[in-house]
Amino acid sequence: MKIAEIRTHLLHHRLDQPFQSAFSTFTDRWACLVEIVCDDGTTGWGECLGPAGPNAATVQAMAPLILGHDPLLIEPIWTRIYNQFRDQGQRGLAVTAQSGIDIALWDIAGKHFGVPVHALAGGAYRDSVPAYATGGFRQPGRDRIDALEEEMARHVADGFGAAKIKIGYGHAIDLLAIRAARDVLGPERRLMVDANHGYDAIEAIRLGRAAADYDLDWFEEPVVPEQLAAYREVRAGQPIPVAGGETWQGRAAHAEAIAARAIDILQPDVAACGGITEMRKIAAMAETTGIRLVPHVWGTGITVAASLQMLAILPPVPQRHAASDPWLEFDRTDNPFRMAILEQPITCRDGRVTIPQGPGLGIEIDRAALAEWSVPG
Ligand code: CA
Repeated sequence: MKIAEIRTHLLHHRLDQPFQSAFSTFTDRWACLVEIVCDDGTTGWGECLGPAGPNAATVQAMAPLILGHDPLLIEPIWTRIYNQFRDQGQRGLAVTAQSGIDIALWDIAGKHFGVPVHALAGGAYRDSVPAYATGGFRQPGRDRIDALEEEMARHVADGFGAAKIKIGYGHAIDLLAIRAARDVLGPERRLMVDANHGYDAIEAIRLGRAAADYDLDWFEEPVVPEQLAAYREVRAGQPIPVAGGETWQGRAAHAEAIAARAIDILQPDVAACGGITEMRKIAAMAETTGIRLVPHVWGTGITVAASLQMLAILPPVPQRHAASDPWLEFDRTDNPFRMAILEQPITCRDGRVTIPQGPGLGIEIDRAALAEWSVPG
């Protein structure tokens, strides 16, 4: 079996209601999907986190390195691409693009051997995981608290046991938002906050102390990701566990954050950190050093499926009776093509998501839906 073709697909949707993180305004949804076709007709799918057009261009720049090669040589291919792009790579687009290729190769390998990725990787610890609803963005033109209460009530009605909201819009409104979300969710459901690095360390510490009584599971990306010392200050200066990692692409960046004890909870994204190959190594480092791992997930059903394959193989830490399962981040924001591109959408029932058991990622792509949302590269 040889790699015959590498296709990239750009998906686009213009949002009716834009939404905002601490620093970004989402007016559109984009995705960059990677389709690798082999000479025997086997096809694998991957996805890259981040700007779709530049990711697609970077994937195509990598294509000559692997065309004509055996797709089952996943590790050697990973090393070859990384090494060739290392001088201008290591993080950012080079690694996000490589992630999409790597996920597609694992999908191919699973289909070739007729088993799910988790079986190839040594076997699953679990067949389902709890999911938390991710959202809680600010919606321009809508009252922050009204919109948030409405959204949290929807998560409760949909059966979620946990939700994450965005903060980083200002101390006072963030505290009101946290209180409103906690009120709607009640005392039992889990609540997390994500500042999308919208604070400096002083502001983050003040917010974390003020929000101490709302029983938050974690405080995500309190400060900009390259400031590991600031992360440490936030950890030391306030009581909420600190999470981060979606922008620390590659093993080396995660190793630095782990060594610095910058975070309590590490959040690599399979579509950004270097794919399944690299995420297994990052997960091993987290397990070795006693840092909890909760994958970051933001993308289509392809990324969700790849994340579920990873979640299947994460060892329970610590080993004990009724050990905790790792959480799946389940994006609830507006994105009509997220699950539409799958023949069988991945759904959450009673707060849990089943890990796909079909070959590879365990999903089939709906070509008609793909065509509906595709735009020229
Ligand atoms: Ca985040």
